[in-house]
Parts: sequence; C-alpha cells; structure tokens
Amino acid sequence: MSTVYNFGPGPAVMPKEVLETAQHELLDWKGTGISVMEASHRSKEFMAMAEESETDLREILGIPDNYKVLFLQGGATTQFAMVPMNLLKAGKVADYILTGGWSVKASKEAMRLGDVNIAATSEEQNFMTIPDRNSWQLSDDAAYVYYCSNETIGGVEFQSTIDVDDIPVVCDMTSHALSRPMNVSKYGILIAGSQKNIGPAGMTIVIIRDDLMGEESKELPTLMDYAHMTATQSMSNTPSTFSWYMAGLIFKWIKKQGGLEAMEQNAITRSGKLYQAIDASDFYTNLIDVRYRSRMNVTFTLTDTSLESEFLKGSEDAGLAALKGHRSVGGMRASIYNAMPLAGVDALIEFAQDFEKQNG
Ligand code: PMP
Repeated sequence: MSTVYNFGPGPAVMPKEVLETAQHELLDWKGTGISVMEASHRSKEFMAMAEESETDLREILGIPDNYKVLFLQGGATTQFAMVPMNLLKAGKVADYILTGGWSVKASKEAMRLGDVNIAATSEEQNFMTIPDRNSWQLSDDAAYVYYCSNETIGGVEFQSTIDVDDIPVVCDMTSHALSRPMNVSKYGILIAGSQKNIGPAGMTIVIIRDDLMGEESKELPTLMDYAHMTATQSMSNTPSTFSWYMAGLIFKWIKKQGGLEAMEQNAITRSGKLYQAIDASDFYTNLIDVRYRSRMNVTFTLTDTSLESEFLKGSEDAGLAALKGHRSVGGMRASIYNAMPLAGVDALIEFAQDFEKQNG
C-alpha cells in the first residue's frame, strides 16, 4: 500500500510506532491473554496503566501538584457545559473571548446555564484574528474567563497565555495540546479532547486547579461534577479504556521524541514550511492574521475557487487525505499535528506546486 498522509482535523493522524505497539499488544495485553479493550478498568493492569499515564502527562506538561488531572468521557464539547455547571454560580458572570467556531460554541452552551459576558470577539473580522487585549471588556468579578487557544476551524492560535490578572482562566487547548510547552500554573482549567494530539476520540483530559473544584456537589449529576470525578480518579463509571490506553502510549512516544520542546520545534518547522509555500504563491492564500497563524491547522484557499474540488480530488488520489476545510468556512485545511511527519508536509507542498503549474 502506498503511503497516505492524513491531514484530518480529528480524529487525526497518530504516530505509526504507537499504532504498531497497539497492534502488537492487541490480542495479549501485558501477558493477561486478553486485549486491553476487554480488560476491566479496575484490574490491576489497567489501574497501573492509568496511574503511569498520569505520571507521564504530569512530567511532559510540568503539571504542578495543586492540579488534578481527569480522564473524562464525552468529548471536549461536554466540557462546554461542565465548566459553567461547576464554576458559574448564580449571581456570577463568566467572560468569553470569541475567536472562532469552538469558542462560540462553548459560549452558547454556557448561556444555557448562566450569565455570560462576551468580553471580546473577532467575529467582525470573520474570526481571522484575535481581538487586541486592550479592547477586552472583562467583568469586575468574573467566575472565570474562557478562551480557545487554538481554533481548529479557522486556524487561529494564541501564541502565549492570556493575561487577565487574578481571574481563573479556562482554556480549551484541544487542537494544540502537547504541541508546545505551557505554563500550567497560569490556568484554572485546561481542557483537551483526545482526538488530535492525544489519541483516539472518546476521552477528554481536564487539568483543574484544586481550589476551583470545591466540594462534591449535591445537585450536579455525579459524572458532571469535577470534585466527584476527582474523588473517584475518573472511574466513577467505566472510562473510555482504549482511548486512555492509547493516550498512555502517546505520552511515552512524546517523551521518547524529546518532550514538548521537540514537539514545538517540529511544529514550527512543519507549519513554517507550509506557510512559506503558501505565501510564495499567488495561487494559494492564507487569510489569517500572521501573528496568530496556527501551527496545527493551516487553512488556505485557491484564488480560483472553481478549482477547489479538482484540488481535493487530486490530493486524495496522491495520498494526501482529508484536506477539505470545515463545512462552515470552506477552502482547504491541512491539520499537521504532532504525529505528522515532515515528509507529509513536503508531499503536500510538492502536490500543490505541481497543481499550480498545471492550472495556474
Ligand atoms: N474544541 C476544539 C478546539 C475542537 O477542535 C473540537 C473538535 N474538533 C472540540 C472542542 C469538540 O470536540 P469533541 O468533538 O470531542 O466534543
């Protein structure tokens, strides 16, 4: 079979080595004679794996001791509700910074549950930039300020932590988690759906500062209560065992590659090459404010939009999969997560340049 590079935004490319390890262990996991998918989450092997995966993640991200790490079900979207359910008490307001489809979706979910202040939005700029910090209208006593640090659809990435004094910062880092070092202590809650840099879909990692969790609630549904999920080590019910196991393998892979510094260097190289090729051509365009171009999701359009379907068909035939942009914005999007080899980006550039020669 010829090589296929998967540029899908998620579920997304995974490291080949990790897939091979999973394949090798599939029928007999840790000498148990059964697959990890068949193992009880309360078995000693699974509990040991779960503990080790948390230790590895803590090491990779440098998570301080006063933060808990949860491995939850329900996707990142469930967190759009869990955050306000747990943090947005009556009489309080939550500030949202809107920079694209995912932060908008999170704000709409929060509006169903409490008072939301849209402190800043780049909607008028079609979400192609991040509103200047001095234009943000933050509330005096917000329960938290929420943002999405990498907007997967548009390809807009915050290049540093937001600066908001003492308000707890809630950040959806789903689509660039583990692609760069982060100072966890600057955040109240970090959310990362698994299906990009972490593993298969079906799990969401939540990193939460102790003081934001409070006591176990008498009102919240148990599975929606951070304090309860912490007390039960994310195993109040059956967790997403296979996704958790795969995440554990990926954490080990990241450590072996040299940790987040290495992931960041690779991301800079990959995205730099791709943006350079786009910028060098009049045939392709990236419309995102250059200061906030995403290293993970590189969006581009063809000047002659009538050629888009031909581009997509040709790229698919050339083994460059899933380059179609999100249905809400159109165009093309190359998602180049941690596991994308540089050769994949080179192959895309070569294809795009040939396509331009033939059609430009
Ligand atoms: N946030 C971001 C930044 C995303 O990219 C996505 C999914 N692409 C989500 C949230 C939602 O994740 P899920 O589908 O797992 O709920």
